[in-house]
Amino acid sequence: MSESREHAQTLSRKSALVIGVGGLGCPTLLALARSGIGRLVLADDDEVSLSNLHRQLLFGPEDVGKDKATLARQKLGALDTGLTVELAHSRFLPDNALDLANSVDLLVEGADNFATKFLTADAAFLTGRPVVHGAGVRWTTTVFAVGRGGRPCYRCLFEDVPSAEVGLNCDEAGVMGPVLGVAGALMADLALSCLLGSYDRQGSIFAYDGKLDRLRRVAVTGRTDCPLCGPRPSIVDIDEARYLAPNCAITQGAPPPHSRREDPWR
Ligand SMILES: [Zn+2]
Repeated sequence: MSESREHAQTLSRKSALVIGVGGLGCPTLLALARSGIGRLVLADDDEVSLSNLHRQLLFGPEDVGKDKATLARQKLGALDTGLTVELAHSRFLPDNALDLANSVDLLVEGADNFATKFLTADAAFLTGRPVVHGAGVRWTTTVFAVGRGGRPCYRCLFEDVPSAEVGLNCDEAGVMGPVLGVAGALMADLALSCLLGSYDRQGSIFAYDGKLDRLRRVAVTGRTDCPLCGPRPSIVDIDEARYLAPNCAITQGAPPPHSRREDPWR
């Protein structure tokens, strides 16, 4: 049997959970849907908005106000690739994170907030699933994959949820749509490599700068004191309180308790 035929057969039995059907999720989904993967599960409860259309390649002006995940399922299904697309009917949340992760072979995270990024990292590690993380702001984007071994992980790189005033998201800082297209293609490539068992780039973060047209690969080393993948882990379950921004942000003039920033899931 040829290698490509063997890969196609393997992928047809594989599944991925895509967290976030936005600027990163759309190009990743388009690439994965044409790859021959058997099943995709979409976790997003947002609606299409006019201001995001430049980077959300699955949607057009006629889709504004409609449910993104439902629309994405329709559009990916129309490709007629034999792919099954399911909806989580929810965001990726502490309550459903482990069940959703357990239902697939791999996680792909293109979320726009740190709470979801760290929750994804923890759920992937605790369920033994590989995960591909993506992020983008202005002209730059980063992609980081964690193989089935789970180390080095997202927390080896970024440690913990930053305070509320740190880290603008792409809506606040802006992001170039084509830069996210580059990231989505790379996220899909790494996801397929993980699913095929051929991922040999573990321990690297990829950073693309659209102004300089430069793609860099930087080695990542696992932290010996990592609370998730280190030898003495303190994170052994999903605790919702872990994904709230540190309280120090509140004392420094950030929004008061119970404000929108206090609830990372809305
Ligand atoms: Zn780690």
